[in-house]
Amino acid sequence: MRATAPLRDMVRETRLDPAQFVLPLFVCPGEGIKREIGAMPDNYQMSIDEIVKECAEVAGLGIGGIILFGLPETKDELASGAYDDHGIVQRAIRAIKAEVANLLVITDVCNCEYTSHGHCGFIKTGDVEGRVDNDVTLQWLAKSALSHARAGADIVAPSDMMDGRVWAIRQALDANGFEMTPILSYAAKFASVFYGPFREAADSAPQFGDRRSYQMDPANAREAMREIELDLEEGADMIMVKPAMPYLDLIAKARERFDVPLAAYQVSGEYSMIVAAARNGWLDYERAMMESLTSIARAGAGMILTYFSKPAARLLG
Ligand SMILES: [Zn+2]
Repeated sequence: MRATAPLRDMVRETRLDPAQFVLPLFVCPGEGIKREIGAMPDNYQMSIDEIVKECAEVAGLGIGGIILFGLPETKDELASGAYDDHGIVQRAIRAIKAEVANLLVITDVCNCEYTSHGHCGFIKTGDVEGRVDNDVTLQWLAKSALSHARAGADIVAPSDMMDGRVWAIRQALDANGFEMTPILSYAAKFASVFYGPFREAADSAPQFGDRRSYQMDPANAREAMREIELDLEEGADMIMVKPAMPYLDLIAKARERFDVPLAAYQVSGEYSMIVAAARNGWLDYERAMMESLTSIARAGAGMILTYFSKPAARLLG
């Protein structure tokens, strides 16, 4: 059954489609800015005008959507930039929606890019461990998600891992006429070393402590299922496992257990490892990229957030 290419094509069990890809994009202040991210080659911090051009290209490749991360002009202890109706992400959504059709705009809902200390929520003064005050943070998240929906976001995606956030966001959206806006929850998000390059991209490294008090322990699989279950009870429409490749077992488990759309985030470190090895001549770039994406789809992810969206879509095109 493997003798010829047509035979292999016919019996292939897993197929990739650009419509299932979501490209993460980083929006920064200014105009005409396209700054390459050192640890993530071919990925850029872009001003709104450049992001709009990028989105037109992304839509042209048949890619399903983008997910936006913001680099605000200023940061403060209250993450005000996260829920400002004229914040960087809110303005970017409006600009993209005005210019580009047939592209889902998903927004990351979190505070770490907007807090001066780089944590995902409110931290009581003097707490050097970086323990986030869950309930104050919920209010910021609800306001942020609502401001994204108002700006035209198609899907909001909370990534903070606070307890009760999906419920808080659902209430805020429903009370303001956004009953139709789906929530994609980063339901099982692990405290992973593979986020390293992203923190340069989003300028969001914690200034003290780490995120282990709110992100999950990489050793815990049962807890991941419990976290997903809770988010679904709170009203999540789609769920995500993050990172992807070191957690394929959990993607497969979640696929068997839950009948909602399942996303996986192939994070910055997963991308950078492959690109670095390929640049050293140690791996074939295209084959490594496609094999990694295929493995994530085979494990059961219907949607894949990946920095390979464009090159993979071109190859599939
Ligand atoms: Zn965060």
